[in-house]
Amino acid sequence: MKLTKMLLFVLLFSFLNISAGDKKTEKPSADKIIEMLKKGNQRFVDGKSTFPNIEISRRELAANSDQGNYAYATVLSCSDSRVPAEFIFDAGIMDLFVIRVAGNVADTDEIGTIEYGLGHVNTPVLVVLGHSGCGAVKAVNAVVHGEKLQLESNIPPLVDNIIPAVSAVKEKHSDLSQNELVPYAIEQNVWQSVNDLFMKSAASRKLVEDGKVKVIGGIYDIASGKVNWLDENKPMEILKAVNDNPQRSMNIYAE
Ligand SMILES: [Zn+2]
Repeated sequence: MKLTKMLLFVLLFSFLNISAGDKKTEKPSADKIIEMLKKGNQRFVDGKSTFPNIEISRRELAANSDQGNYAYATVLSCSDSRVPAEFIFDAGIMDLFVIRVAGNVADTDEIGTIEYGLGHVNTPVLVVLGHSGCGAVKAVNAVVHGEKLQLESNIPPLVDNIIPAVSAVKEKHSDLSQNELVPYAIEQNVWQSVNDLFMKSAASRKLVEDGKVKVIGGIYDIASGKVNWLDENKPMEILKAVNDNPQRSMNIYAE
């Protein structure tokens, strides 16, 4: 009798646990999530990563869950092997919805993926993350300075999104050498991606305007491991400028 009671209790407990597992839970606010990302990055910088959410139980939960109830940030960053998003933020499975592409550009495929991350995985935060020593930005910087590079056939249409960023900083800092310009171009390229996203994605603009999503930019330092967060007001300034641009896309949904 006692054993039966205990079994019942165990069964009930595990049932509650399972059903509680994928219950739609309120996600933290965007500001709280940004704090989580900052703290996770600090642990990584200090060599004190906790490697959360990589246990077998987390995989089991992931297999039986809607990631939209868990993942808390969409991250657009570079494919560079020195920029591993989950490590940088000391995050694990079902924590980050990550788009990695050379030069963290935002072209159609990346923007579609971001729209999915924000609109279907419901992450309240989008991080656009550039990084020091970005080869894609350096290559475009070289081309803009007149160097002739032999690039494989599909690379120019990939990195052409970076050209406006490099051209803008070259004009603004005409006193700087090609090498000195690189860090400025890397930062401007983060804002270029935010601009390209807002220009092409009415859905993303609406989520930001409705206060459901916050966009934040950062530059990852490949030597220190630190993310240097950029001006938090800038994405809203870009959004405002895009809203004044008649060339922005207006369709939230595909035809
Ligand atoms: Zn890169």
